[in-house]
Amino acid sequence: MYKYCSECGEKLDTWFADGSGWGVVTQCANCGNCYRNVSGDWDLPDTVNTISYNMFKETLLKAPNTCYDTDNPAFYFGTFNPIHNGHLYVAKQIENLGYNVIFVPAYDSPWKEVVNSFDYRAAMIYAVTPNICLIEKQLGTPSYSAQTVRNLLDEYKLDKINFIIGMDAFAQIDKWKSPDVLKKYCHFLVLPRDDIKLSFEDMQKDGWDFEYIKVKPYKLSSSMVREKISKGENIDKLIHPKVKKIIDVFSLYRKEEK
Ligand SMILES: [Zn+2]
Repeated sequence: MYKYCSECGEKLDTWFADGSGWGVVTQCANCGNCYRNVSGDWDLPDTVNTISYNMFKETLLKAPNTCYDTDNPAFYFGTFNPIHNGHLYVAKQIENLGYNVIFVPAYDSPWKEVVNSFDYRAAMIYAVTPNICLIEKQLGTPSYSAQTVRNLLDEYKLDKINFIIGMDAFAQIDKWKSPDVLKKYCHFLVLPRDDIKLSFEDMQKDGWDFEYIKVKPYKLSSSMVREKISKGENIDKLIHPKVKKIIDVFSLYRKEEK
């Protein structure tokens, strides 16, 4: 199956490179225009295996970060180890407010000993949405939000970054590296946490730019998902079926965490 570049008409012969339609990211060799499979209802094939995965990885990891609709982006940072229905629920709520949520997986993860290679975590995100930005891998470690923010401003040509953040993290934000950079260049979308009370008045007085997102806290974490997988429990209600498929194919998170 071939597609043609909408900019210059050149044949895009890597389109559907593995014949399955998943993991497709391609860039026109002639003009550099790039494409992702954004049909939204494509399926991971039953034959998904390490070969199609590697092909996917190669194309995904080479694609420019801005290779999709970036109108009014809101950046969702996290380890997404793995991405679960709580993340998707939050993203949906924020999209309902008119933002275009872009997942930004952290390169470094505190769960190094568990399967968490960046590429797998990115693959699981990409299985459910093309809106993924790999900038943290490109920047390497250690990764500081201020540094990521500066690079996002450049790459997406924005004046400010819409930064999705949990209230627990937001309450500590002045302890992060270079808080003045974050204060100047970020508009925070603050998600509620049951157990955290924060004085928004004080934050406002201190010059932080934010809005409070009214969503019901979703009581699910990636560590709960990992624990259930390691115990062989059913996780069908906690993660997207395409994410489950990748976890199954690559036997991710089978080992008990220490
Ligand atoms: Zn082209």
